[in-house]
Amino acid sequence: MTIAATTDTDVFARRIRTIVGERGVIDQATDMAPYLVDERGYYRGSARMIVRPASTAEVSQVLRACNEMRVPVVPQGGNTSLCGGATPFEHGNEIVLSLVRLNRVRSVDPLNYAITVEAGVILADVQKAAAEHDRLFPLSLGGEGTARIGGNLSTNAGGTGVLRYGNARDLVLGIEVVLPDGTVWDGLRGLRKDNTGYDLKQLFIGAEGTLGVITATVLKLYPRPAALETAFAALSGPEAAIELLSRARKRTDDKVAAFELILRTPLEMVLRRIPGARDPLAKAYSTYALVEISSGRDDGGLRAELEVLLAEAIEDGLVKDAAVAESAQQRKDFWRLRETIPEAQKHEGASIKHDVSVPVSRTAEFIAKASRDVDSVVAGARIVAFGHVGDGNIHFNISEPAGGDTALFRARAEDITRTIHDIVARMDGSISAEHGIGRYKRDELAHYKPAIALDLMRRIKSAIDPNGIMNPGKVV
Ligand SMILES: Cc1cc2nc3c(=O)[nH]c(=O)nc-3n(C[C@H](O)[C@H](O)[C@H](O)COP(=O)(O)OP(=O)(O)OC[C@H]3O[C@@H](n4cnc5c(N)ncnc54)[C@H](O)[C@@H]3O)c2cc1C
Repeated sequence: MTIAATTDTDVFARRIRTIVGERGVIDQATDMAPYLVDERGYYRGSARMIVRPASTAEVSQVLRACNEMRVPVVPQGGNTSLCGGATPFEHGNEIVLSLVRLNRVRSVDPLNYAITVEAGVILADVQKAAAEHDRLFPLSLGGEGTARIGGNLSTNAGGTGVLRYGNARDLVLGIEVVLPDGTVWDGLRGLRKDNTGYDLKQLFIGAEGTLGVITATVLKLYPRPAALETAFAALSGPEAAIELLSRARKRTDDKVAAFELILRTPLEMVLRRIPGARDPLAKAYSTYALVEISSGRDDGGLRAELEVLLAEAIEDGLVKDAAVAESAQQRKDFWRLRETIPEAQKHEGASIKHDVSVPVSRTAEFIAKASRDVDSVVAGARIVAFGHVGDGNIHFNISEPAGGDTALFRARAEDITRTIHDIVARMDGSISAEHGIGRYKRDELAHYKPAIALDLMRRIKSAIDPNGIMNPGKVV
């Protein structure tokens, strides 16, 4: 969809200033810079201005102006997108619509286990507000200190709690959205049951800003766990991880809160590159699982359940060794080993990243196949596989061979990705498990998504955004 360049820059800028005031506009190059580059540094865009409305009414007026003057809009929350979704293109015709000033917790309803927040509230602050009322908001991910809830919903974020509580999509009761023509849809309802036709909120969740702007949401809360037990276990291989996960779910009556897989290569990178990182186990093993179980009861029973699970798994040869966290600090140290993998990998030369999913039961098969085939594309390429394997989600990243030829590795990047994504497609998996599509994977989506599904997506897009002003060139 192309957009006619009809805009008189000055008229547009004056109109926006009238709506949001001086505080709501950033147009000096140095101040704009942080909004124009993506988290991974893959894209460096340009924009007419950064617009920072402070209320839903202001968002509405800004979108109305953009729609009338055909100015494309790139919504932005915390700008932690890992696929360039929140970064404008290089041509400079777009505005970035930053939601950071819509940052109020509107209300908490502990009896309804619900919280209503504006789109610009930082994810960690949503968690804190819930905790102040003895409730849990279970969405949790590495970027939670920066990412904002509107961005989390727009990317249908996953993270470490999906196994137990679901994706962002599963945690939403209601949303408020401003449509591209400025109309506000107030769908802020805290209902568990509402069977009145199409579930419209789900259209905007995971839409990556291509259909409208989420300005507020009602989120589900849960009882705060009273007990939490965490183990770092060495396993005989990825197959053992899947078997252990299955046993853990059964034995604990589905109290598994997180189940993360880490192969030895990424762990070694962390031990080498992250100051203070220590291997919790005495010997090196090929495969590890970070297992966390939680319960609303604090009677010591949970610890016993975890220990029995591990003891049986050791007896059966699934688990080779394990450490159970003895303190909050030790638990933090275990998680740090998992969460600093991307940081450690940055120091290990060129890399290519894939965020894929396959059915949980086939994750080990996927890792084995993809590792073998990648090696046949670039011999010695290092497989940095880790992730939320409890959801079948593997971050299957590839680092260049140690001491290898970086230019040669980069030249084969597309072949590596094609190899991996083809395997994923053959296994009925997804080429984007949780990070979204954005700009980075748009062409991959077009390659793998069935034509009928793409056509439906385009029809929805043109029905809601006929002038194509919302984040054009992303997703579809
Ligand atoms: C260290 C680190 C760890 C991460 N771990 C995970 C993880 O485990 N799981 C996971 O799923 N993701 C993860 N991510 C990715 C990222 O944090 C998520 O995609 C996050 O949900 C994005 O939130 P944000 O506010 O930064 O959104 P942004 O990056 O600002 O925007 C993301 C997309 O949403 C759109 N958007 C933003 N706000 C709105 C709005 N209010 N209305 C409409 N559209 C909007 C943007 O246009 C863009 O397309 C991680 C990122 C980092 C940096």
